[in-house]
Amino acid sequence: MSDLDPAQLEAFRAEVRAWLGTVAKPRTEEVRVWGEGDPELQIFIAKSHDDERAHLDRVRDYRKARFDAGFGALTLPTEFGGRGLPSVYAVAFADEEREFDVPPSSEIISVTTGLVGAAVSVFGTPAQREGLARDFLRTDALCCQLFSEPGAGSDLAGLSTKAVREGDEWIVNGQKTWTSNAQFSEYGFMLARTDPDLVKQGGITAFLVRMDSPGIQIRPIRQMSGPSSFNEVFFDGVRIPDSMRIGEVNQGWKVATATLGFERSSSGSGHRRKGGTTADLVSLAQALGLSDDPIVRQEIADVYVRTQLHAAVVAKVARANAAGDKPGPAGSLGKLIASDNLVRIGNAAADMLGSALVADTGEWGQFAWSEHVLGAPGYRLAGGTDEIQRNIIAERVLGLPAEHRADKAPFSQLSKS
Ligand SMILES: Cc1cc2nc3c(=O)[nH]c(=O)nc-3n(C[C@H](O)[C@H](O)[C@H](O)COP(=O)(O)OP(=O)(O)OC[C@H]3O[C@@H](n4cnc5c(N)ncnc54)[C@H](O)[C@@H]3O)c2cc1C
Repeated sequence: MSDLDPAQLEAFRAEVRAWLGTVAKPRTEEVRVWGEGDPELQIFIAKSHDDERAHLDRVRDYRKARFDAGFGALTLPTEFGGRGLPSVYAVAFADEEREFDVPPSSEIISVTTGLVGAAVSVFGTPAQREGLARDFLRTDALCCQLFSEPGAGSDLAGLSTKAVREGDEWIVNGQKTWTSNAQFSEYGFMLARTDPDLVKQGGITAFLVRMDSPGIQIRPIRQMSGPSSFNEVFFDGVRIPDSMRIGEVNQGWKVATATLGFERSSSGSGHRRKGGTTADLVSLAQALGLSDDPIVRQEIADVYVRTQLHAAVVAKVARANAAGDKPGPAGSLGKLIASDNLVRIGNAAADMLGSALVADTGEWGQFAWSEHVLGAPGYRLAGGTDEIQRNIIAERVLGLPAEHRADKAPFSQLSKS
């Protein structure tokens, strides 16, 4: 189907609207009234375990219905179980979905469907594609991302969790960290070192592992904003059958980079809002009687301009995707502006609230702004830090020289191995 045929795209939109009308009510205009309801200013989810589980169940019911209606994996090629549509169709689906009251998605749903489901479809065997990948795309099973380690975040290829083959099984020892939602996941998508005598990117293999396997220990990490949405995961002699290996042995880096690339073209949508907005700052200024304060006005105008800039970058990336361009470094620009703006929004709120930001007097909205301020630094790290985004922009947009690399020897000869 051509992405350039407006009639076909409109027909698709009509098909989506008709289906959405069977599963959800049209969304009514959100009127946020200062002092009423949940202020919802947190950047990272702050629900109790049981509330988050109940929320995920609602999202999963919706995603199962969406998959069964043929809208589960829109951009995935048909040979891998998707609909093979250009990403402009995923954008159109998300636009239509926003008009309906569907349960707001969450990080683990995007990771399971958009990253792991897509990766297992593309790199898996036919049996893995028909079984596991389908389960992930339909959210019958949830899967967390076991990539980062205490010594390997930005430098992911420097990971040292080991998998050693023993007959038809692999024995895994090591530690992962910052694993979001491991406590809600039936599976983990893991990278492990399988040959330390190759260069660091060359000796990595990708596996799926059941999170209830003997030898796996999940320890929640308490965040400074209160909740424990991510975890440390320890592997102590965990046995993974070779049938759970994704892709070829020592080809895990290819699987990992493709997986991270799917993040940008995923058809997931319906995301909850992340943190406070310009409109929330305006409400706060009005509630505190600070609308006439020249500094406050400057700060709010500044974040408004940056919000518009972010929207323009996102629209440009969507247009490039629609024209068939590969997701390029412009995605880094969008991530950088978004995380910077969240920090600026938090700073503006902090300037208005003063000591009330940390006092939590119980007044409506105050602690909610504290949650925003405490969550913003995490957003600057997750999905690639600000500095890494700047490196990408410097090297791939501006054509500046690449960073010096002192790690081209086999992994076993590097000082961190
Ligand atoms: C909210 C949240 C959720 C996450 N969820 C997951 C998850 O589900 N699964 C998972 O596997 N991981 C997850 N992560 C981990 C995330 O991918 C890493 O935090 C991120 O890649 C950075 O790695 P690091 O924390 O080890 O920092 P490091 O890589 O150690 O970086 C430390 C500092 O050094 C800077 N730095 C590092 N290298 C360079 C360089 N080359 N040039 C300039 N500066 C540099 C960084 O920018 C940073 O400021 C999550 C992180 C957060 C915050």
